[in-house]
Amino acid sequence: MGGVILRNVKCKYCGKIITNDTAFCFKDNKEKSNYYCDEKEYIHSINQKNNRDEIYNTMNELLGYEFLTPMWKKSMNGFLDMYDFKVLKETILQNRDSIKYGLEKNFDNEFFKLRYIEAIIKNNIEKIKKDFKDIDIRKTKIENEIFASNDIYGTEAVCDLTKKKSNILEFLNRSDLD
Ligand SMILES: [Zn+2]
Repeated sequence: MGGVILRNVKCKYCGKIITNDTAFCFKDNKEKSNYYCDEKEYIHSINQKNNRDEIYNTMNELLGYEFLTPMWKKSMNGFLDMYDFKVLKETILQNRDSIKYGLEKNFDNEFFKLRYIEAIIKNNIEKIKKDFKDIDIRKTKIENEIFASNDIYGTEAVCDLTKKKSNILEFLNRSDLD
């Protein structure tokens, strides 16, 4: 019979135990099979990785490091668990100057430096989150307004108007004949 040997695998995205026959499989460049519940979760996991890398790079640039140590990564991932990637990135960028200013201080060790920067992020991130929410609300409102105005001047309404106009013309023409 041969074929694929059925076995349990763990989804790399959500950690669920699935069987290798139904799972979405992606082979990495080391020919290692990575399993996901479905393609959607695979794409989510790629996006998540890209977002994480972008945050690490942003922090690296600010700190002047070549790479982030696990302690820094853990801290940034903690923020990413709670906040949207866009919100965290915007918070770091908007507070670039105060972070840089803080870095000029002499910290006893790396841990205090991290705590200091975490505090700057924590103190500002809720406001940025709210700003993003306000933009979303405004966008939805504008979209709804466009939708509503389409209702008034939509195709159906225009058709009716043309119909009415032609009826009037017809009437006028006819009365001209009479
Ligand atoms: Zn999954």
